[in-house]
Amino acid sequence: MLYNNLGKTGIEVSKLCYGSLTLGPMQTDMSLDKGSELICNAFDQGVNFIDTAQSYGTYKYIRESLKKIERSKFVIFTKTYAYTKKLAEEALKQAFDEIGIDYIDGFLLHEQESEHTLRGHYEATEYFLKMKEKGYIRSFGISTHNIAGVKGAIKSGYVDVVHPLFNKASIGIGDGEKEEMYQAIIEAKNKGLGVYSMKPLGGGNLIDTYEESLKYVLEKQYIDSIAIGMQSKEEILANVQMFDRGYVDASLKENLKNVNRKLLINDWCIGCGKCVKRCNYGAIKLIENKAVVDHDKCILCTYCAKECADFCIKVI
Ligand code: SF4
Ligand code: SF4
Repeated sequence: MLYNNLGKTGIEVSKLCYGSLTLGPMQTDMSLDKGSELICNAFDQGVNFIDTAQSYGTYKYIRESLKKIERSKFVIFTKTYAYTKKLAEEALKQAFDEIGIDYIDGFLLHEQESEHTLRGHYEATEYFLKMKEKGYIRSFGISTHNIAGVKGAIKSGYVDVVHPLFNKASIGIGDGEKEEMYQAIIEAKNKGLGVYSMKPLGGGNLIDTYEESLKYVLEKQYIDSIAIGMQSKEEILANVQMFDRGYVDASLKENLKNVNRKLLINDWCIGCGKCVKRCNYGAIKLIENKAVVDHDKCILCTYCAKECADFCIKVI
């Protein structure tokens, strides 16, 4: 496994980052044993970096995995929507209490759309920067789906790490295309920020072009690490093989094709109906102003996902 420093933070992370969202109640809602076993399995194969968030409900899996993984060898990043000092304080306390730790490697403000959003979070930012000075937080950062978010982080002068959305099909990038996002990433790296990207498979929508899509992101040298959600040992192994040598064993690839996947529509759907219009199979309808999928009709073509500006539609 390749390891990189996250910008100037001096934090060394594996190129493959465990995206823990997949484990929790928002996606597969795995048992505690199974989720923590997967984290440990990835760690044993060199994955020393995990991404979580206050909203994911996945702290418990990390806590459990820390019974087997030495804390100092594991890099943990979380995120919060907190914008006031009080909410930020609560978010930090919750992370420490629920994961069972007394410092965290990275605390990010979740989904910062631009420099204006970041400015609107100044109270939480001030608090986190103070906690960084005191040694409770090793780095401060933001996650973002927007090019303007990365640019805002660079401009701020106090963001250490950015966690932008980036994939071959530009799925989920809120304000432009992958080329512009990558330019912003290069700029961030050149200014000394650490960069770990998310959603290289477009929230599961690029699974049919798995190798090609991963290669596209892996070739981008300015990205220090790439977070991917993984829900089985086979998926972990496939990703480790891709990251280590650029291809996956044929038998493993066949196994992964047989995994039962389904469409997931996140509850922040605003009921715009664009996905409904796009579906040629009558598999989505609006019920009480929310898109609802009929899994019997859905063939997982993922065309609907590309229509959703709010990135609500995933394949899990
Ligand atoms: S994935 Fe394809 S079939 Fe399924 S709801 Fe979306 S557009 Fe329709
Ligand atoms: S396109 Fe997205 S926001 Fe609009 S109805 Fe579909 S899932 Fe909801």
